[in-house]
Amino acid sequence: MERDKRVILACPPYNINELLAGTGVPEYVPTVEHSLIRCVDCQVEMWVGPNQRTTAARAPLATLLLCMGCAIKETSRRGLPAAVGHFGGGGGRPRLPR
Ligand SMILES: [Zn+2]
Repeated sequence: MERDKRVILACPPYNINELLAGTGVPEYVPTVEHSLIRCVDCQVEMWVGPNQRTTAARAPLATLLLCMGCAIKETSRRGLPAAVGHFGGGGGRPRLPR
């Protein structure tokens, strides 16, 4: 599938809390079901949730796993408003700091 038509699965980069420090955004806490993978575009490590992982595994050619920064760049390149969907996960047990 053409890149422009693939569904963007936006994932928070591993250092999202450092990036958002001081902005008042609540701290991001990955659950034990999240795992670290690399952004397809910039290779930064990012947290992928179970629903995103399942979606990407079911439709690898119709999805694009990007960090949030690259997801915003990609939507802007496509001429779309930056919209980040959410699969409704995050209800799992919080991962302890490593
Ligand atoms: Zn990226």
